[in-house]
Amino acid sequence: MNQVVIQLPKTRLSELSSYYSKVKVDRQAPGVVFAAKLPDVAITVYSSGKVLFQGSGAGRESEHWGQAMPSKTSQAVKVKGDKLPANFSSASVIGSDETGTGDYFGPVTVAACYVRQDQVELVKELGVKDSKMLTDDLMRKIAPDLAATLTFSVLTLKNEKYNEVQERGWSQGKIKALLHNQALKHVLNKIAPEKPDYILIDQFAERGVYYNHIKQERDIIKENVLFSTKAEQLHVSVAAASIFARVAFLKEMDRLSEIAGLELPKGAGSKVDEIAAKLLMKTGSDSLKTMTKWHFANTNKAFNLVKKK
Ligand code: MG
Repeated sequence: MNQVVIQLPKTRLSELSSYYSKVKVDRQAPGVVFAAKLPDVAITVYSSGKVLFQGSGAGRESEHWGQAMPSKTSQAVKVKGDKLPANFSSASVIGSDETGTGDYFGPVTVAACYVRQDQVELVKELGVKDSKMLTDDLMRKIAPDLAATLTFSVLTLKNEKYNEVQERGWSQGKIKALLHNQALKHVLNKIAPEKPDYILIDQFAERGVYYNHIKQERDIIKENVLFSTKAEQLHVSVAAASIFARVAFLKEMDRLSEIAGLELPKGAGSKVDEIAAKLLMKTGSDSLKTMTKWHFANTNKAFNLVKKK
């Protein structure tokens, strides 16, 4: 599909909406302030002043109003992984990402999310960018609009289950690979018979290692799968997936904090050791185990802190 995005000042936007007022259409999407449809082009105006023209007439119509914004290419980002096709950032892609693997407290969460070509601008409009640049609060705010707009799947591996499979010998790599594969499968099932142009996994393991982890699974998602580091900068589907994963992680952290009676810290630093020691004394190790990734070094450090007291 042909598409052009331009940025216009407010005065030009009102000119544009009156110009297309006769072909105005109703589009109830968050962030959309005006929409119109000609036989060969759909026009969408966003509250930020971006205007999206889609369809074979996109070039002709957009030329009246301004210059196309250059679409960001993947070359700008230094990444490891597969070489991505040209115009990848505006393709229809299922992206996947995970959170919580480095945090002593709380679950591992993985999300996969489908962003169709014609949703890419809308998703950006909703505030999705490189999720490393977004705060937790902002992600909580954006997530409901994304959930209303996109097809996605979020999996939360709670600590009890995590510890059980970890003690059975599963590495974090295997845990992640199984969850990614499952989340991708869910999204593919939800959008069927439609298929994405590509699937992009935020790379945490080489392709061979990834597929070795999941070789015993019944359904192994392989078609058009690409791997890249920093994938959240390469397609908004991965950025949106990491927001879904993060918000699910935060939600479970809220629940665990409620049970613990204090706000559980993120990460795996010395603050975490102190809080873990506090909980060991207050409620004992069985209870602490249900909130943590028990095999982390923080467990021993917490026991040592208790001994010193
Ligand atoms: Mg990642």
